[in-house]
Amino acid sequence: MARALVLVDVQRDFCPGGSLATERGNEVAGLIGAYQLSHASDYGVVVATQDWHIDPGAHFSDTPDFIDSWPVHCVADSDGAQIQEKVRTDLIDEFFRKGEHTAAYSGFEGTSAGDGTPLADWLRSRGIDSLDIAGIATDHCVRATALDALKQGFRVRILTRLCSAVAEKSGDAALEEMHAAGAQLV
Ligand SMILES: [Zn+2]
Repeated sequence: MARALVLVDVQRDFCPGGSLATERGNEVAGLIGAYQLSHASDYGVVVATQDWHIDPGAHFSDTPDFIDSWPVHCVADSDGAQIQEKVRTDLIDEFFRKGEHTAAYSGFEGTSAGDGTPLADWLRSRGIDSLDIAGIATDHCVRATALDALKQGFRVRILTRLCSAVAEKSGDAALEEMHAAGAQLV
């Protein structure tokens, strides 16, 4: 069996300069790009998830509460939905898009840009049983992706230095929650 690197939502809108920026977004994107080069041989496959909204209903709001509603972000095909340029997209095997018509925090709600295969099926069909997860945001989509991965029976490690949170306090709480659910923090 083999390990996959799962890069969650490292998209321009979640980085400084974007519409829903996390403070460490660009820093984390740079660290991820370097990590992809230095750790390429550790992984059977590398995948990336993308928030990819067309009309996600109440997920978007002009008066967002930053809990359940958010400023407009990651509109399908927009610049803001693109993977941050420091990430090595040439070293990513497949992209999984989620949230066209709904809020979708977990990467496991995503389907492949190629043929629409759900993420869990795509990974299992390649013999993957362990995941290293990194990306944005620690307290939302990384958290939801990791908790779903554990429910689906994958072994999970969180690459904590390569994750960026919306807020430090909720990011730390999310790491504790992922750890309590069975994820290893590295
Ligand atoms: Zn979203």
